[in-house]
Amino acid sequence: MTQFKQFYKKTQRQRQEILASLPTLTEQDKQLLFQNNSLSSDIANTITENNIGLYAIPLGVAPDIVIDGKTYLAPMATEEPSVIAAASFGAQIIKKAGGFHILKNDRYMIGEIALCQLDDIEHAKMNIEAQKDTLLSLANQSYPSIVKRGGGAKNLFIDIKTSQDKTHTFLIIYLMVDTKEAMGANILNTMLEAIKPTIETLANQSAIMSILSNYANHSLTSISCQIPVSLLTTLNTNLTGEQVRDKIIQAYQLATADIYRATTHNKGIMNGISAVVLATGNDTRAIEAGAHAFATHTGTYQPLTVWEKADNGDLKGTITIPLPIGYVGGSINIHPSAVLSQHISQTTNAKELATLIASVGLAQNLAALRALVSEGIQHGHMALQLKSLALSVGATQDEIPLLVEKLKQEKVVNQEIAKKLLQTLK
Ligand code: NDP
Repeated sequence: MTQFKQFYKKTQRQRQEILASLPTLTEQDKQLLFQNNSLSSDIANTITENNIGLYAIPLGVAPDIVIDGKTYLAPMATEEPSVIAAASFGAQIIKKAGGFHILKNDRYMIGEIALCQLDDIEHAKMNIEAQKDTLLSLANQSYPSIVKRGGGAKNLFIDIKTSQDKTHTFLIIYLMVDTKEAMGANILNTMLEAIKPTIETLANQSAIMSILSNYANHSLTSISCQIPVSLLTTLNTNLTGEQVRDKIIQAYQLATADIYRATTHNKGIMNGISAVVLATGNDTRAIEAGAHAFATHTGTYQPLTVWEKADNGDLKGTITIPLPIGYVGGSINIHPSAVLSQHISQTTNAKELATLIASVGLAQNLAALRALVSEGIQHGHMALQLKSLALSVGATQDEIPLLVEKLKQEKVVNQEIAKKLLQTLK
């Protein structure tokens, strides 16, 4: 994909033209791309309640995400400057190092039915366990179309859990479902409600609730990369590649030791992940809740990536994150920008999209850690923030690059200084 070389230096129109030449884009996608009119008020009024209009978020693309030899483009919807630049930069380094590699890509959603205050909880557990096959078959009968697609309820397991203050004990039945191309919230909820009456009869108690869980720990995507130290040297510091590698590993270890750092480490990863999740019409809240819950799976809140020294001295990075995203369902197929994003991405299904999203998270983290341990985050970040600052004080499109150049000469920048400098340009 040579047309994506120095994509950031092209004009917005040139970028649109490059994307329009992709064979995966339909005529409707191309119209949408050039008209920049992403959602009709009719659709907006249908998708949400009490609708009064639209709230626009910029859509960009991080090119050259190479995963197991295939090149993808990451559509990213974000209002934060520097996120797309950082993802692109990280992905470029990883591409030169041979690209991303898929280690794991599971896709089972989980839902739960919880009961409380049972007279004989162990007996109820045994009764339900004995009827596992019947319950799975009841679940599948309630949603035959997903079974026809090769998916459906695959497993059921039961646990007993006690509340933090020890006053309540619960019997919880977990249902694992292969939801194929859908995220599956409604598929799960339909199945759970279908088996709930039988479970209530077997346990001789009514359930508190039946609902999908966003703790999607059976929908994990794990991606790795391995970077020779020669690709880690920086122009703005005297650090060697080995020093940058070791400092990135130290930065990762700091996140394992310190929740203040781990939270920010993971926020940076989610900058990239949420942007692709949003661009592809997926549920950002579901992915964010699942990611942060998974970050605690060892008992303490930990970074979602691991950085270590490979046997040959390379820097090795791995991300593992629950990504129960959909390729159909919800508002995905009715939101033209989500369809456009799918077509831009070069993915063809939910599993492929999950690997792209995880790879963007890993690239984002590499770029952030490399900047943090070398020239510092403000160097690159502020250069991109300055454009927003210029716009916020009223610079026109022609004045923005001139004002940004002037702001770069200043030691301290703020709105007051930007306003004064803008006056000198008028
Ligand atoms: P849908 O309810 O839209 O269900 C998926 C749809 O896709 C079904 O109608 C299904 O058709 C259709 N479909 C077509 N092809 C396929 C295929 N290959 N594989 C699977 N389904 C296919 O979406 P979800 O159940 O995925 O629910 C997602 C929505 O639920 C999101 O908007 C999310 O925000 C929301 N939600 C999230 C919750 C949470 O995260 N806790 C809770 C509640 C809602 P058919 O019926 O014919 O099989």
